[in-house]
Amino acid sequence: MKPVLALVGRPNVGKSTLFNRLTQTRDAIVADYAGLTRDRHYGNGRQGRREFIVIDTGGFEPTAETGIYKEMANQTRQAVAEADAVIFVVDARAGLSAQDHDIANYLRKLGKPCVLTANKAEGMQEGAQLAEFYELGLGEVLPVSAAHGQGLRTLVDQALEPLNLPQEDEEDAVEPGVIRFAVAGRPNVGKSTLINTWLGEERLIAFDMPGTTRDAIRVPFERQGQKFELIDTAGLRRKGRVFEAVEKFSVVKTLQAIESANVVLLLLDATQGVTDQDAHIAGYILESGRAVVLAVNKWDAVDDYQRQQLQRQLETRLTFLKFANLHLISARKRQGLEPLWKSMLKAHQAANRKMSTPVLTRLLQQAVQFQTPKKSGMYRPKLRYAHQGGMNPPVIVVHGNSLEHVSDAYKRYLEGWFRKEFDLTGTPLRIEMKTST
Ligand code: GDP
Ligand code: GDP
Repeated sequence: MKPVLALVGRPNVGKSTLFNRLTQTRDAIVADYAGLTRDRHYGNGRQGRREFIVIDTGGFEPTAETGIYKEMANQTRQAVAEADAVIFVVDARAGLSAQDHDIANYLRKLGKPCVLTANKAEGMQEGAQLAEFYELGLGEVLPVSAAHGQGLRTLVDQALEPLNLPQEDEEDAVEPGVIRFAVAGRPNVGKSTLINTWLGEERLIAFDMPGTTRDAIRVPFERQGQKFELIDTAGLRRKGRVFEAVEKFSVVKTLQAIESANVVLLLLDATQGVTDQDAHIAGYILESGRAVVLAVNKWDAVDDYQRQQLQRQLETRLTFLKFANLHLISARKRQGLEPLWKSMLKAHQAANRKMSTPVLTRLLQQAVQFQTPKKSGMYRPKLRYAHQGGMNPPVIVVHGNSLEHVSDAYKRYLEGWFRKEFDLTGTPLRIEMKTST
């Protein structure tokens, strides 16, 4: 599981600027998906090969008694509770404030690993200007500039350093041949009901529950000779043969579960429509590059009018997942579950599809013959051949000349073409252009 870092500090010290910096790499991956609304509070970061989750907590006033500040304080406490380490951000230009003292007191009592960083320190001499922050009693002060991207590498290193992280290759050892499914969705959409229906029918393999409450648990089982692991996000606890949900929704747990799955089922609730939180979870899934299947549960409980409305919402709010199959199901009445299961298997296969260079190249040439890319100014892009640059999700690398002039519309055309030819329903597909020099 990825380590989780929470950014804490009073308003305006530069937390969201820092958050954007730390999560930038992933932004690039999903930049061209229309309709994606992102939750600006949770993101994935990467430094070298080390990946982590960042939480931006908004403004924090630990002593707030009422109103919006109290709510923000509660949210911050939850984020801090879920984090492995805290990055406490202060403003090097504004200097030390009473609020900083309050926050420092709170963090000191918690006893979590904590790194103190003074932002907006570009062009400043260390020493004098930062000395006052030592008063907070949190040890060394790291000067950074989120706006200019200075000092961030050291900051992340220091935040991750005390966490005793396992070596990359010891992590998440998966038995070969095991397919990992995660069921993601808001509270009450019917995740536990669905999981219990599936698991109730199958042979459960004995497993140990990890000690922490934050990490998602994995339930191994077998179905038709195939081994699976169901990664739970609902905070399920085993109670005899069934599972019951015990905890409230946790974004961190959802993110962790998505990351460790091969295929993610995003479950929606027909009686509630597509909510902001659904769209955010969908965004996390897209960002992760995982194969995905959509299911609208409680289809039994809505009338024709609600059904129509729902179809429209799905089209407008989740357009960026239109490569995924959609199922209308009732977990309670066990309707539509078999086709859903098949779609999940199909999505897994699609994500792992092998595409040989000769076949890709032939299909590329056919696509170009059918519709040539438009000239852009003096340049006419020439698409020569293609090879598979990765799996899970599949990446197709197109080689040729002047490919930087290929329009987005043409890239989408190519994506559709390859999707159809290779039956890539259920997996994101990346097409990269590589111009030979
Ligand atoms: P938040 O409320 O803590 O999330 O703070 P924001 O990220 O919204 O930043 C508050 C203000 O500080 C904005 O005007 C930013 O442009 C500015 N800011 C953020 N980082 C830096 C920095 O490294 N240097 C300077 N000079 N300004 C910064
Ligand atoms: P979770 O929080 O996502 O795990 O949701 P639960 O599985 O606990 O379900 C929340 C509520 O929705 C419970 O009262 C279920 O009985 C109900 N529910 C689950 N599936 C269905 C369904 O297919 N149709 C209807 N009408 N209700 C359902």
